[in-house]
Amino acid sequence: MMTDGEPRAATTLVEAGRAPWSTPAVNPPVWRASTILFESCAVLEAEERNNADGRFYYGRRGTPTQWALAEALTALEPGAEGTILYPSGVAAIAGALLSVLKPGDELLVVDSCYAPTRAFARNILAPMGIATRFYDPLIADPSSLFAADTRAILMESPGSLTFEVQDVPAICAAAKARGVVTLLDNTWATPLLFPAIAAGIDLSILACTKYVVGHSDAMLGSVTAGPGHYAALRRTAQALGQHVGPDDAWLGLRGLRTMGARLKMQGEAALTIARWLEDRPEVARVLHPALPSSPGHAVFERDFKGASGLFSFVLAGGDGSARAALIDGLVHFGIGFSWGGFESLVVPADPASIRSVTQWQAAGPAVRLHIGLEDVDALIADLDGGLSRFRAARDAG
Ligand SMILES: *Cc1c(COP(=O)(O)O)cnc(C)c1O
Repeated sequence: MMTDGEPRAATTLVEAGRAPWSTPAVNPPVWRASTILFESCAVLEAEERNNADGRFYYGRRGTPTQWALAEALTALEPGAEGTILYPSGVAAIAGALLSVLKPGDELLVVDSCYAPTRAFARNILAPMGIATRFYDPLIADPSSLFAADTRAILMESPGSLTFEVQDVPAICAAAKARGVVTLLDNTWATPLLFPAIAAGIDLSILACTKYVVGHSDAMLGSVTAGPGHYAALRRTAQALGQHVGPDDAWLGLRGLRTMGARLKMQGEAALTIARWLEDRPEVARVLHPALPSSPGHAVFERDFKGASGLFSFVLAGGDGSARAALIDGLVHFGIGFSWGGFESLVVPADPASIRSVTQWQAAGPAVRLHIGLEDVDALIADLDGGLSRFRAARDAG
């Protein structure tokens, strides 16, 4: 494991983005604003020419509530230039890609990406004349990936549903040598477990809906830019009219302050449960980057400061209805999308349907778990009952 470098992330998490927007209270108020009033024509004209961050101009440019969150997210990424907020994680992915791509460009996207990323490439980028080529997350020689018209590469590590860890620093080095812009969906790790800009990423994307908000009560996204990439990111977001409501930004800021504590507790509980599942005869495989059997584990050990609370497992045989017998009877795991909140969640995972250049082969259906802040013993007892129901349904069918 990497040792925690400076600036010390726990302290940054508590202090970043507070001054000057919140003084004398601990937290900034929720500034609900569209119109900003100017003292005179001269002030209005000066602000019109200014267009810098942290200037009152018009509600769409934000107020101290949004600025405080953006500044805190920037502070968590050593070397970053700035952060733009978006109304969801998908909007953040779209905003980042549109800030670097133009017609005729090629985009590389990892085959284990979040499914809506694939839909954005197909439904929005392709009709604009931007082609997407998918690549294997476990590619041995990243320099072989790039073509003459490759403009950007979008990584996600670990991958959605299947959790392959990519060699992000090696891909960034190869991309940089060819002038290719590097993007990472860093939602699983957050900057606390993987500081992306320091690893060579140009645009680091978070679905803040997950661990930043942390309480399953708001949608939010962010993109943090490395050197040279902030101006285009900001210009694109402004042109698209991207704006986050101050109430949601405030919820993001509130969640952020405790993200370190939650990630640590949920990450430890998830690893305990992953190890327990690995020993069960009903389970064929556990896909958790901190387990030696998980693809990319050595890179995970080298690059990450720990694991968060989301992972999958593959059942030993059975079909969808045997899996449903497991899932439907769980009492502590809600069945639902999203994750990163304080509560445990479960969904059936079907990676085969969202792959194009790699094959998903498994001994049985897969299940994705998000581990919350409940007692680990209670979660294990719940899963124990679920595996018994699965076994009964599988063996009967
Ligand atoms: C959830 C998620 C997103 C999208 O975030 P929303 O806020 O739901 O739009 C993007 N990437 C990953 C890896 C996610 O898990």
